[in-house]
Amino acid sequence: AKEGGGNRCQSFEPSFHEQIQRRITIEHNLRKAIERKEFVLHYQPQIDTRTNRVIGLESLIRWESPEFGRISPAEFIPVAEESELIYLIGEWALREACHQNARWQEEGRFHVPIAVNLSSRQFYDQKLKEGIEAILTETGMDPQYLVLEITESMTMHVQKALSALRSLKSLGVHVAMDDFGTGYSSLAYLKEFPIDKLKIDQSFVKGIRHHPANASIVSAIISMAASLNLEIIAEGVETMEQLVFLGGQGCGVMQGYWFSHPLEANRVPDFIAKFNAGG
Ligand code: C2E
Ligand code: CA
Ligand code: CA
Ligand code: CA
Repeated sequence: AKEGGGNRCQSFEPSFHEQIQRRITIEHNLRKAIERKEFVLHYQPQIDTRTNRVIGLESLIRWESPEFGRISPAEFIPVAEESELIYLIGEWALREACHQNARWQEEGRFHVPIAVNLSSRQFYDQKLKEGIEAILTETGMDPQYLVLEITESMTMHVQKALSALRSLKSLGVHVAMDDFGTGYSSLAYLKEFPIDKLKIDQSFVKGIRHHPANASIVSAIISMAASLNLEIIAEGVETMEQLVFLGGQGCGVMQGYWFSHPLEANRVPDFIAKFNAGG
């Protein structure tokens, strides 16, 4: 079942027709959602398990729709991607994350990088660099504290990806390659990409226990990241067993429900203070 109080509660698979209908209605409502301020960012802590400190936050968008209840970004981002709406939503998320960073800065309680997910159309938008530059100026955000997450599957067109990456990196921001291991990107080009970190996809982390192949893939990704001088982070860490395995393989930075679900912004400062204090 979908989380939140959606008004459709079905125990059967929706028909093709129903799926199309829902898509159309979602797109229609997405247009209004921006003006009505129905989006909010939650932040999931990223932990360095060697020092037991929070060393980053990933922003994850949430849509509280009066019509549908809470809708997962996994459902509405792909819908937005099919229209120019993704530019508006993407820009909103970037601005909101940078503003939130500024507010936390003013409170002066912690200073950690914030990751923002980019969609494919956003990443290849010629105007993205300018837009980010404006947001950085507007919010006074230190570009080194902004991490842009792109997925591996977005880098299939190597030359286009390279030039988009170079353009963004010239701003001084960092780039992480998300969902790594699922996108069949050319390993030969990986070393050419000016990226800073790899995020091991959670499907591999999940499979560590029961599928020896997944454990081998995870080890291979970790050693490859080390040899390419890339930071590495594992996502979807839910168990102590996964934590121990990853740590043993040399991956110290992790994100997942084991440590924390994505949090509302106002809960982040307390979480970080308590976690860093060892509580
Ligand atoms: P993602 O970037 O791969 O984000 C990780 C997803 O895994 C998030 O789902 C997060 O809540 C979830 N997660 C974190 N830890 C665990 C865990 O231990 N176990 C499990 N099972 N899941 C965990 P979420 O927030 O529903 O986001 C889904 C996807 O939607 C994201 O996948 C990303 O592709 C997209 N998305 C989210 N926010 C944005 C955004 O602001 N812009 C864009 N373009 N896409 C976004
Ligand atoms: Ca991500
Ligand atoms: Ca991911
Ligand atoms: Ca994903």
